[in-house]
Amino acid sequence: MVIKFLKKIFINNNDKLLNKMMKTVNVINSMESNFEKLSNNQLKLKTYDFKKRIKNGENLDDLLPEAFATVREASKRIFNMRHFDVQLLGGIVLNNKCIAEMRTGEGKTLTSTLPAYLNSLTNKGVHIVTMNNYLAKRDAKKNKLLFNFLNLTVGVNLPNMSAQEKRKSYLADITYGTNNEYGFDYLRDNMVSSFKDKVQRKLNYALIDEVDSILIDEARTPLIISGESENNKNLYTKIKKIIPYLILQHEKENNIYNSGHFYLDRKNKQVYLTEKGLIAIEKILILKNILKKKETLYSNKNISIMHQIISLIKAYYLFHKNVDYIIENNNIVIVDEHTGRIMPGRRWSDGLHQAIESKENLFIKDEHQTHASITFQNYFRLYPKLSGMTGTAHTESFEFSYIYDLETIIIPTNAKMIRKDFSDLVYITEKEKIYAIVQDIKKCYLRSQPVLVGTISIEKSEMISHLLKKIGIPHNVLNAKLHAKEAKIIAQAGKQKSITIATNMAGRGTDIMLGGNIESKINKNNISKIKKIWEQENKKVLFSGGLHVIGTERHESRRIDNQLRGRSGRQGDVGSSRFYLSMEDNLMKIFSSSKTVDLLRKLGVKYGEPIEHPWVNKAISNAQKKVETRNFEIRKQLLEYDDIINEQRKIIYKQRDNLLISKNISKNIIKMRKEVISYIFYKYDIFDVRKIKENIKNNIKKILLKKFNMQKKYIKYIVKKFSTSSNEKIINNIVNQLKKNYEKRTFLIKKNKKILLEKKIMLQILDKLWQDHINEMDYLRQGIHFRGYAQKDPKQEYKIDSFNIFSNMLNNLKYEIIVCLSKINVIK
Ligand code: ADP
Ligand code: MG
Repeated sequence: MVIKFLKKIFINNNDKLLNKMMKTVNVINSMESNFEKLSNNQLKLKTYDFKKRIKNGENLDDLLPEAFATVREASKRIFNMRHFDVQLLGGIVLNNKCIAEMRTGEGKTLTSTLPAYLNSLTNKGVHIVTMNNYLAKRDAKKNKLLFNFLNLTVGVNLPNMSAQEKRKSYLADITYGTNNEYGFDYLRDNMVSSFKDKVQRKLNYALIDEVDSILIDEARTPLIISGESENNKNLYTKIKKIIPYLILQHEKENNIYNSGHFYLDRKNKQVYLTEKGLIAIEKILILKNILKKKETLYSNKNISIMHQIISLIKAYYLFHKNVDYIIENNNIVIVDEHTGRIMPGRRWSDGLHQAIESKENLFIKDEHQTHASITFQNYFRLYPKLSGMTGTAHTESFEFSYIYDLETIIIPTNAKMIRKDFSDLVYITEKEKIYAIVQDIKKCYLRSQPVLVGTISIEKSEMISHLLKKIGIPHNVLNAKLHAKEAKIIAQAGKQKSITIATNMAGRGTDIMLGGNIESKINKNNISKIKKIWEQENKKVLFSGGLHVIGTERHESRRIDNQLRGRSGRQGDVGSSRFYLSMEDNLMKIFSSSKTVDLLRKLGVKYGEPIEHPWVNKAISNAQKKVETRNFEIRKQLLEYDDIINEQRKIIYKQRDNLLISKNISKNIIKMRKEVISYIFYKYDIFDVRKIKENIKNNIKKILLKKFNMQKKYIKYIVKKFSTSSNEKIINNIVNQLKKNYEKRTFLIKKNKKILLEKKIMLQILDKLWQDHINEMDYLRQGIHFRGYAQKDPKQEYKIDSFNIFSNMLNNLKYEIIVCLSKINVIK
């Protein structure tokens, strides 16, 4: 009820907003004739004029109509394309920190030139974010012609570029790159040892293309920079032998018939040990001499063993060969669960990759330790101004608004949409379904109609390809390996008789023109000839019914289905789409069981016949909504946990930056000494004099260099004084001694060199402790659900513990720095 109500408001609101923005569009249109009269040079000079006006206090919104009119006029001259009114609407939305939902083929690349131009005028940089490097290069190359004409520079940010090249790309007025690359640069920038080594400027405005893919689909995996770590990988081989002894419990709650050692959350690929399981594992480990008698898995020392056990259970029960990964040249290669792409070189973190290597009896490679990480949610929240565009946003508008504070606005299409979306056909078995799909493809082929078949995995693509080969129908299979090659193939998916089978994300962002794409074949001399041929081809394809899209399964998210459908019927073309389902599809299993299937057969559904009933459609859509909600919850939860470490990250990165830019840190060091010594004094209860004395003794010994000849006597003196003199006095005394001692030892170093040395030491310690901290937080996070056994709220517990760990770390940081500095000894 509530949702329906909200949706109604949303739709009404959408129209209202569009009407309001239409007024601005009318203003821009009214300027057109004046702009047409400008010479090229006059048009180019507009950019300088606008920049000057901004310096004089005008804001971007005031400039918007003129700036957009400038871009449109330039586009007419450079590209021979005039931004449609709906594209102006899109541009306004994108400048308004919102998401513009514009269907596939509506020209989002051209739309983005409007807000990109406007926002670059402040000289603070614009980041255009694309799904992959191929699209970044493509769009940069395309739009560069326009931007350069308007006196703006364009940069592309690619992996493997040198820092210098990257810096140059980031200094450009408008930068193109992927979400991964921007995020990694941000993390790397916070690991540099000198401020001038950073490549990014202060983040300003980001415009994300295919925003749902980036902010929703990819938001479940954080970005991680990792390095080698020294875990004991040989242990996997020993521990894996215990896996067969462990009993799977089929449900979360156990009862007499169903009690085991662990249970699975298949959807989220998580393993949970039961209490019984913990006890059993400890016993076996002790038997196998991996744990010593009376040792528990809980202790800090053994947490990595626990971790390895969990990873191994995951490897055996949740990760399957040829589905989640493939083996290539004795390597485990990940297959992306959403796109079916294989991802060479990527490794699962946290020992999972090693566990799978162990399971498959392959060489176990070294584990990597996290050095820095951030979720996309938190990276993109760093931009003061954020916006995005995609063909499919409104189903996720709540999430965009809740997490990113981005409202979704649906922009109408330029031409009327006439694609025919047929209703789903549901078969009982997968075999019947595939047969029906192949028949559909064959029919299209015979009437020369192009078909795009979307599958959810490489395996399914291969299956259909195999059947088509058998009946001699030529086709292309895209296994999502190389973006550029893929784009080339999919660009031609609209040619007569062309049959293209692709996993659902393959070639996203590539324009499918009916009759084929001629962009790459055109040059100055042949343009009219090639265009003429294309027009004939185009007519034939339109006559055959346009592009027919076949979905071979419903995806768990309606958005991905809409994305697939949207490949057809672009810019008012004819086209059609149909989804085929079977009761054996994963999604269908959510609401059907073998009983449902029996019942359907009994009710008289014959072999090879589809079921058509409103009940089925409704059930499917409900199942999708259910999964969507659950996936949202997962992302929300990830974020809730990440928010805590995010706050900590902000504090540490700020400290780091301060350190990098500070010119005088000796003041800091003096302050730190005092804090450290005070902390040693006040760590224990003031009445526990014995403990305090012991603590002082131990710590002061560490802080003062052994060679410092006064040491023994001095400590004695301090400890004796402790009970008589006031603490503050003693503390000051120690601090002064430390200072004297330090100055004596660093006397020979020149002042500027000394600062550099101090900085370097402090940075190294900060980075090391922070890295250890994020790994510790990771462990904490993974084990936190065990607290549920003790009737405690895991999230609350996580908050409390992480706060403690963090404040310990901050104390430790100062302590380690002071200890390290006291060890510096300069020899002549
Ligand atoms: P989207 O990203 O929205 O799916 P694209 O940016 O790939 O769409 O553009 C689709 C096609 O429409 C491209 O061939 C592009 O050149 C063309 N196009 C975009 N805007 C216009 C326009 N205003 N006039 C003519 N063609 C346009
Ligand atoms: Mg696009």
